[in-house]
Amino acid sequence: MPYQTMRSSFYVDAMAVISPHLKQTNAGYSYSGDLSDPLVDAPAHLLDGAIDIANYAASHAADVDCVGGFPAKEFERLAEAGFLIAPLHSDRGGSGLGFQSKRIGITLQILKQIGRGNLSLGRVYEGHVNALQLVQTFGSLPQVRKFAQDARDRKIFGVWNAEAEDGVKLLPAGEGRYRLTGSKTFCSGCGYVERPFVNGTLPDGGWQMFIVPMEQASVKVDPDWWQPPGMKASASYKVDFTGVELTAGDLIGQPGDYFRQPWLTAGVIRFAAVQLGGAEALFDATRIYLQNMGRIDHPHQQARLGKMAIALEQGHLWLQGGAAQVERYAPVFGGLPGKSQTDPAQLVGYANMVRTAIEQICIDMMQLAERCIGTRGLLPPHPMERIIRDLTLYLRQPAFDIALTGVGEHVLVQTEPARELWS
Ligand SMILES: Cc1cc2nc3c(=O)[nH]c(=O)nc-3n(C[C@H](O)[C@H](O)[C@H](O)COP(=O)(O)OP(=O)(O)OC[C@H]3O[C@@H](n4cnc5c(N)ncnc54)[C@H](O)[C@@H]3O)c2cc1C
Repeated sequence: MPYQTMRSSFYVDAMAVISPHLKQTNAGYSYSGDLSDPLVDAPAHLLDGAIDIANYAASHAADVDCVGGFPAKEFERLAEAGFLIAPLHSDRGGSGLGFQSKRIGITLQILKQIGRGNLSLGRVYEGHVNALQLVQTFGSLPQVRKFAQDARDRKIFGVWNAEAEDGVKLLPAGEGRYRLTGSKTFCSGCGYVERPFVNGTLPDGGWQMFIVPMEQASVKVDPDWWQPPGMKASASYKVDFTGVELTAGDLIGQPGDYFRQPWLTAGVIRFAAVQLGGAEALFDATRIYLQNMGRIDHPHQQARLGKMAIALEQGHLWLQGGAAQVERYAPVFGGLPGKSQTDPAQLVGYANMVRTAIEQICIDMMQLAERCIGTRGLLPPHPMERIIRDLTLYLRQPAFDIALTGVGEHVLVQTEPARELWS
């Protein structure tokens, strides 16, 4: 691949679980909401809907498994079932997926199911959830209103943060205007995502968030840049934004807001949920294969399936642990900065554990599945080969080493006994 990501897009999958009721003012954050959460009981129908759509996506995944493919019909179903507006706060007609702390458990289950159906679909939908959280956290009221309407109009959002040496810069063009130069890489959902965050560097080095309305922008898309072994249907192309003009009103939040912790790193539990969905699909496919082959009485196959079941359950428990940490950090609406009783470093450390553990679980699941099914099971039309290709690529998320050493760094400076590390 000719380009290397210069800026660590460890931050790409950041999650801002902070409430839309929290508004940054010149004096810092102010809170304008009611502390009661009308949505404590998460809407189970959303999870049921996600399972149905995932089943359809799984049956259709081979059809879109090509460069140039995209799960467009699946997105139509997601839109139809209300998933494009689900990340909006209930005040705006949504279900508070993602950003309301008591919604995080169901958000992760939904992401896992969508990932089970098709990892490319999960990748793009996770970006949609992330982007709407960022808008509602850092956007001004008019921006929140505008983009909430866009979500209601079924526009897909995304976060295109990764870039190579020729990354995006905002050049002041006078009268509060900016002109963009440079490109983004790995722009998932390219051609379908109409409201991407295309963060870029200001002349003083600040990292500024903004959304480009793609139908109004003239950009140069390089689909040939995307020649991957897996995740083909995620349409993660390179896009050159040179020449696109913005006004100051298009900028979202303050420079550096994107990197605010702990929510930036806490967001990794969302992509881990999608990845675990791929492992779940592999489990199902492997078991069906063995059942169809009449190979379920073999003790070695039984031992491998036993290990796979254990690994999968560990993944589920990690997600539950991650959700519990989010709720513990921000038990009401998620994240009054400085008001939480819990150290934000604890949430960051725990999220890094979730991501690291689930990556290993997925790797173990792939190896076990391959040994179960052998060569024949890896040939299409059996779905295992595609799921393994997709999962192998999607597991490559940025800054793996930093995540792991970050956990070690965190626990090494603690002094309380091990039993209290995450309590
Ligand atoms: C299917 C898919 C879809 C994607 N979609 C999007 C998207 O929509 N938007 C977006 O912004 N991004 C997207 N990405 C990009 C993604 O977030 C990562 O930026 C990308 O996968 C790069 O990962 P990497 O493994 O090359 O990362 P790297 O960070 O390069 O990591 C590779 C290895 O090098 C190590 N490493 C990192 N930095 C250093 C260093 N300085 N010195 C030594 N070692 C180092 C890491 O710890 C790791 O072990 C997507 C990626 C994939 C695979």
